[in-house]
Amino acid sequence: MRRLFEPRLVNDAFGDPGLYVDFHDERRALLFDLGDITVLPPRKLMRLSHVFVTHTHMDHFSGFDHLLRVVLGRKAAIELFGGPGFIASVEHKLRAYTWNVVHRYEIGLALDVREIGMDGIGRRARFSSRTAFEREGYAPFEPTGDILHEEATFRLRGRFVDHDVPCLSFLIEEKARLKVDKLRLTQLGLGTGPWLRELKHAVLSGAPQTDPIEVQWRDASGVHAVTREVAELRDVILDVVPGQRIGYVTDLRYTDANVQTLAQLLADVDLLFIESVFLDQDSAQAARKNHLTAHQAGLIARRVGARAVVPFHFSPRYDGRPAELIAQVQAAWSGADRQAD
Ligand SMILES: [Zn+2]
Ligand SMILES: [Zn+2]
Repeated sequence: MRRLFEPRLVNDAFGDPGLYVDFHDERRALLFDLGDITVLPPRKLMRLSHVFVTHTHMDHFSGFDHLLRVVLGRKAAIELFGGPGFIASVEHKLRAYTWNVVHRYEIGLALDVREIGMDGIGRRARFSSRTAFEREGYAPFEPTGDILHEEATFRLRGRFVDHDVPCLSFLIEEKARLKVDKLRLTQLGLGTGPWLRELKHAVLSGAPQTDPIEVQWRDASGVHAVTREVAELRDVILDVVPGQRIGYVTDLRYTDANVQTLAQLLADVDLLFIESVFLDQDSAQAARKNHLTAHQAGLIARRVGARAVVPFHFSPRYDGRPAELIAQVQAAWSGADRQAD
């Protein structure tokens, strides 16, 4: 069955970290981290509705300028999320440039910037090209637990891990998916069409049972159209299957507290993207740089019960040797190296 979204690393495993999550049925995408994103063509950057930044080390945030340059004058709005001090980081970036003409652009750009504090309080500010990106304050918001963002079809969770500085780890959680039972559809004398998407959306967003759905389909005998209520269609046609869950974890120390945090955030994740910066023989270096080794990344993947693992953020010192890093992750994840622990 078709998934809601398709996640893909922005760069190869030695390049800057970043995950691009494309939506199948919409011209829309999410981006995790803003390092070197120049491989993403403008049409892909134009699709971004939300950008989530783990922390503002340069390899995770220097691409802000590139993104801004591509979307400015072409796109109306983007929401950006980050950790403590993120609003100030964005503001400083914006203040670095001269904005005497952007207010005249036909399409104005509004950046809705949200930061999550270590105290769990969310702060929010808006920067619009109409007002030369002057900061406009908003009332603080309180995230519900670790849910930083929620829509009808998915929610986004985030928790802080320790990387010497606070760094956000993320879970993208597709809500229950609704499956069409073709046989029952035939029994009802209805055909498939775009109306099924409308129905799924109505069910997921909790629309009233009496809401009408215009059911239209086309077959050999022509175009058909009938009206049915949500209630008539919902129990008969749709089955609920669990949604896909994707973890994005990068830049952290291997500590008990971090492992504990990730175990809570990522239990039974379907697909885990996790940094694997150093080989295990260089674990002292990894500790000094506040990063994981490939072995430690594999242990975390095993601990959280990840069904699939994609390692990334490899140190350039292993140029030409990605297979060794991948093998260490796989061995620890599968438990094949448990004797060696
Ligand atoms: Zn990094
Ligand atoms: Zn970092």
